Amino acid sequence: MQGKYPSKIGSMLSCKCPRCRSGKVFTGSAFDPTGFSKTNDYCPVCQLKFEHETGFFWGAMYISYAFSTLFMIVFGVLAVNNNWSWNKIVITVVTTSVLLVPFSYRYSRILLLYVISPFRKFEPEYLDKLK
Ligand SMILES: [Zn+2]
Repeated sequence: MQGKYPSKIGSMLSCKCPRCRSGKVFTGSAFDPTGFSKTNDYCPVCQLKFEHETGFFWGAMYISYAFSTLFMIVFGVLAVNNNWSWNKIVITVVTTSVLLVPFSYRYSRILLLYVISPFRKFEPEYLDKLK
């Protein structure tokens, strides 16, 4: 555990642990249709328990809902502005929403972990304690 502490934004985008910022939160690839949702119980590097209380990730559902709504609005507005037929609009919005489920699922959990993390006292100096 030597070197510079990774940035918060970079760690969030690469789905890394909010405490050590180097352990992976998810076990599989985002592009694996059956494995994109598999989450490690503990950080493989610092052993942080990600779901630190039962039902913790239920809160991510609200963030995921906001993401899905945002996707639908953006793609819906794009489709309407291009004078597409209603069938084409519905197919486009539904298809993109389904294709973006892994993104929505993963980043809603990551956002929840990072939003809650300041209250769990993750400090950058934590890496020094691991040495
Ligand atoms: Zn960690």
